[in-house]
Amino acid sequence: MATIFSKIIAGEIPSYKVAENEQFYAFLDINPLAKGHTLVVPKKEVDYIFDLPDDELAQMHVFAKSVAKAIEKCIPCQRIGVAVLGLEVPHAHIHLVPINSETDMIFSNPKLKLTEQEFKDIASSIFQAWKKI
Ligand code: 5GP
Repeated sequence: MATIFSKIIAGEIPSYKVAENEQFYAFLDINPLAKGHTLVVPKKEVDYIFDLPDDELAQMHVFAKSVAKAIEKCIPCQRIGVAVLGLEVPHAHIHLVPINSETDMIFSNPKLKLTEQEFKDIASSIFQAWKKI
């Protein structure tokens, strides 16, 4: 059965896309720790990120780098924090989280409640910035 992220990639479930190429897809996390919290996923369905072949793992990180650079241009922050958990969705993904302090990366922190318009505006600005990277 397809994962929820495969359904998002296929457009069967809506998402706030921030970047896409042939191999990877990036979209806003629906329960964000911060504005601009993004998930980067391979289109190929693999549960555990470290089961990806070396070249695909490397390409995924290079793609995530381009997305992080775009997020930085849109969301004021000190850094983009990077995390891999994968405890909830069995489809490899990298979390990119704009942070200003170590505690901004605590995944049990309360999540932001954003309006649909806020999600749309954030995604659109990151996508526009990403196209120029
Ligand atoms: P993890 O598997 O890394 O522990 O957590 C999965 C992440 O995916 C969570 O941060 C959760 O908010 C996010 N997530 C789960 N389902 C959806 C969804 O349908 N759409 C989006 N945009 N994010 C999701």
